[in-house]
Amino acid sequence: MKSVSIFGATGSVGLSTLDLIRREPDAYKVVALTANSDVDGLAAQAKATGAQFAVVGQERLYGALKEALAGSGVEAAAGEEALVSAAQTGADWTMASIVGCAGLRPTIAALKAGGTVALANKESLVSAGALMMEAASASGATLLPVDSEHNAIFQCLAGSRLEDVARITLTASGGPFRTKSRDEMAAMTPAQAVAHPNWSMGAKISVDSATMMNKGLELIEAAYLFPVGLDRIEILVHPQSVIHSMVEYRDRSTLAQLGSPDMRIPIAHALAWPQRIATPCQPLDLARIGRLDFEAPDLERFPALRLARDAAQAGGATPAILNAANEVAVAAFLSGRIGFLDIAMIVEDVLNRYSAASPATIDDVLAADGQAREEAGRVMERLTA
Ligand code: NAD
Ligand code: MG
Repeated sequence: MKSVSIFGATGSVGLSTLDLIRREPDAYKVVALTANSDVDGLAAQAKATGAQFAVVGQERLYGALKEALAGSGVEAAAGEEALVSAAQTGADWTMASIVGCAGLRPTIAALKAGGTVALANKESLVSAGALMMEAASASGATLLPVDSEHNAIFQCLAGSRLEDVARITLTASGGPFRTKSRDEMAAMTPAQAVAHPNWSMGAKISVDSATMMNKGLELIEAAYLFPVGLDRIEILVHPQSVIHSMVEYRDRSTLAQLGSPDMRIPIAHALAWPQRIATPCQPLDLARIGRLDFEAPDLERFPALRLARDAAQAGGATPAILNAANEVAVAAFLSGRIGFLDIAMIVEDVLNRYSAASPATIDDVLAADGQAREEAGRVMERLTA
């Protein structure tokens, strides 16, 4: 039996992970489940799976969680330190699916504990990629990418050497505004931005898909996971989201991974790796799909792609600053405070106004993240004044 913990169990990726685990009751045993504030959802999951621990991120919710778990035998805990402790319990397999840089400390703790870490939480890798890769190699932890593109690349690379890779192609759906003009985008509402054409996901990543910052973050993510050089990683818009990414080798042979756009496929790959398990996902029906389309990304309409590539090139603390500014701007857009086009503008403004030395520790990363958030707050105040 594999012992598993899920960080961000109540979110979109967390629920998909639990769905797969529930189907294989003899294969997986749940150690810890965590959520930010959904005490009832978390308590129900913990009881249903017989988890050892349930941890809620918001410290003030400790009493409510303890009460919801009374008599169940599940141990309740709350707060950021409790999340880190839960990550240190040494589960064989940990799903890192908290959204945002909030997932960084638990994810690093899980990597230091040395088991297998399935990584969905791309913001942690974008912010602290070098330190995370170091932590994994120091402890011997296995880092398995869950983001569908990176999971696809991982599968296409199986058994090959990075030196033989000529090019990695990250595919992008183009999001809900793929064909919209800048003028049209300016008027788009949060509800329109989160209505992704192919994938059902949490609100933050859905907005990132609409700005295409998601693909920018994924470019940075890919550069850390598969260090072939940034100039060998390109982005290709593929509206059907059937090819999840591709690897071209120096002999000009190209491998692609295909599948229905259902996150349970890459999650199942990471869960069972190096074996495979059955999933309830739709088989790929290419005759029904009929055609696959491709187009070059439009950097004019989607400036986030340019900002992310420049941040990846700059390295150091720049990707952490880009990510923090984006998190603040996306939250402000979702709450109706700013317009859709303001998101990338705010990120660019913060990148121009604030820089930090290359981080040597996780605390350095979190300090840069905090400063960038403050700068983003100031930029936004001027914008909305
Ligand atoms: P979501 O918003 O649906 O869920 C986020 C989870 O994180 C929830 O369980 C929430 O309680 C928890 N959380 C949020 N803030 C927290 C905090 N401050 N402290 C502790 N816990 C907190 O998000 P999601 O769509 O499941 O995405 C999770 C991560 O996976 C993101 O980094 C996203 O980019 C990545 N990802 C998601 C998908 C997808 O299909 N949803 C695909 C690829 C990658
Ligand atoms: Mg992705």
